[in-house]
Amino acid sequence: MAIAGTPSTTMRQLPMSLASRHVAVIGAGAAGLVTARELRREGLSVVVFEQGDQVGGTWVYTPRVESDPLGLGSIRATVHSSLYRSLRTNLPRECMGFRDYPFVSRDGPDGDPRRFPGHREVLMYLKDFAREFGIAELVRLETEVVHVGLVEDSKWKVISRKSGSDEAGVDEIFDAVVVCNGHFTEPRVAEIPGISKWPGKQIHSHNYRVPEPFRDQVVVLIGSSASGLDISREIAAVAKEVHIAARTFVDGTLGKQAGYDNLWLHPMIESVRDDGTVYFLDGSFILADVILHCTGYKYHFAFLETDGYVTVDDNRVGPLYKHIFPPVLAPWLSFVGLPWKVIPFRMFELQSKWIAGVLSNRLMLPSQKEMMEDVEDFYSSLEVSGTPKRYTHSLFDYQFEYNDWLTSQCGCPADEEWRKEMFYSCVKNLFARPESYRDEWEDHHLLLQAHEDFIQYTL
Ligand code: FAD
Repeated sequence: MAIAGTPSTTMRQLPMSLASRHVAVIGAGAAGLVTARELRREGLSVVVFEQGDQVGGTWVYTPRVESDPLGLGSIRATVHSSLYRSLRTNLPRECMGFRDYPFVSRDGPDGDPRRFPGHREVLMYLKDFAREFGIAELVRLETEVVHVGLVEDSKWKVISRKSGSDEAGVDEIFDAVVVCNGHFTEPRVAEIPGISKWPGKQIHSHNYRVPEPFRDQVVVLIGSSASGLDISREIAAVAKEVHIAARTFVDGTLGKQAGYDNLWLHPMIESVRDDGTVYFLDGSFILADVILHCTGYKYHFAFLETDGYVTVDDNRVGPLYKHIFPPVLAPWLSFVGLPWKVIPFRMFELQSKWIAGVLSNRLMLPSQKEMMEDVEDFYSSLEVSGTPKRYTHSLFDYQFEYNDWLTSQCGCPADEEWRKEMFYSCVKNLFARPESYRDEWEDHHLLLQAHEDFIQYTL
């Protein structure tokens, strides 16, 4: 998929008076932290709002789960993180880190030196990053943003309050808002014919933490993403049977999975019945106790009021120029972190560099009309290629082209070749060794190149 042609952004000098713009960043996960750094590097004044009691976002593991295991209901008390206790990264740490702050192993007894470390190591890395760049002092912890809306002069009113309280919020006016609220909290659940009368339990992976509740159960797990892969294996160690239902699968892989006597791969569920039976599309069926939805997440911006200029339609957030700026509201509203199937932190770094450069007037956006035409061309290209709307922000192969475009706008160095190659070698390894890709690999030459590169930032 090619990036639709756009008029190139041009550089111009920043008039000093514009450098005092006041910007609200919503969220202090990886996206919010790096955005705050980039905004401040451009001389802008920044406040980061974070509803949690620490920075790190998704990487703040909690054993808590929501009262509804499916995570449905718009006014439920949400738990932000979807991490399970045993989670290790699914990308090698060399790929994951920000470019000038490599994710190398930490000294000390609490470090996890593995190449695919546990979740705590990532949280520690993000906290170190916040400390190193003085971001922590910009963050207002336990401060939930409940409303962001346009006011006169294209400014934004941000209403926030102490998290968990129902006190009246505090109003503040900002010149610009960057939304970094994360997109792995609002479960997407599979639609299954007959489900309203099916007597078993249902849970979404958002509320999965440990395998124990599945002991001796017959589990149908929907989805074959990285989480589905991990969780199915973990549950198989205690469950009676685990049956994965997958929308897509490699020919010849259906049936009992090698190395397990209680794990099967099936095509998608066709329907379920009130006697507890689950039917698969190939006609096979089983009697199951639980359906576990590892079916991903939906974009959700409960606090954001844009007068209809930005909508979420079938998981397309739009219209957005390059997944970031709504043309009519640009550059005063922007989003970091919407694209998925990417190397997240590096992409956040580039998106936020671009936003910061534009907000400080060092970089210029095309006209509103040109941005809108670009978005329309992009949507047409998706339609022509048969890509469903809900995959609008799924980049995968196109991510490096996207990053290269961003680096060309920002005038910063392009992604390192080793990072690109390492991403693909990791994906290949995952398919070749789904059980052991985190501990066995062949891309030693790329590891060497990465560490040679890191010397300039870590010495
Ligand atoms: P988040 O980390 O979710 O941060 C958003 C922040 O915004 C949170 O702190 C939240 O509390 C705050 N917030 C939200 N709404 C409000 C509000 N109204 N007011 C105030 N604060 C608010 N990525 C990798 O690179 N490698 C991996 O191995 C990997 N594994 C993953 C495994 C799982 C199960 C999941 C769910 C994701 C994984 N990811 C992985 C992707 C991961 O989400 C990204 O790496 C990244 O951490 C996302 O950062 P973010 O800042 O966009 O969102």
